[in-house]
Amino acid sequence: MTKIAEAPEGITGAGFFATSLDKVIGLARANSIWPLPFATSCCGIEFMATMGSNYDLARFGSERLSFSPRQADLLMVMGTIAKKMAPVVRQVYDQMAEPKWVLAVGACASSGGIFDTYSVLQGIDNVVPVDVYVPGCPPRPEQIIDGVMRIQDLIKNEPLRRRYSQEYQELLESYNIK
Ligand code: SF4
Repeated sequence: MTKIAEAPEGITGAGFFATSLDKVIGLARANSIWPLPFATSCCGIEFMATMGSNYDLARFGSERLSFSPRQADLLMVMGTIAKKMAPVVRQVYDQMAEPKWVLAVGACASSGGIFDTYSVLQGIDNVVPVDVYVPGCPPRPEQIIDGVMRIQDLIKNEPLRRRYSQEYQELLESYNIK
């Protein structure tokens, strides 16, 4: 019969739990995302609704929008991105500090949408690595919230060393990010 040792005093009872550093940091990061809304057209209007009282992104700890890339960790691109605008998206991404995530909201940001023309970028993943794509034209606020929740899942489960991994470095190199 297996004998289980008694737990030493002070490490049991209400309020005590054990976890790993990865999980604690992931939980804190996931519930305090500071989004940078890069809204260029109609999808941006849906985002405004997402921030309003009916949907209230504050419930996810993300009410603090950041219009400075240096104080943001989630780039939300919402709307049609013209090819002329692409270097600006990239510059904003470059200015954000690691760790950072990217959410492509709507068909235009994800793939160019209905604008299969000479002037429109056919997806922001041509210039920056994207973590989650939200489908729809436009996506409903529920879908945008779902996209944020998928980002939260990624953040919660991301090992602290992922950003130093060879796979991640190769991803950055493929975008010529130093
Ligand atoms: S996906 Fe549709 S709603 Fe969103 S920016 Fe493009 S055209 Fe507008």
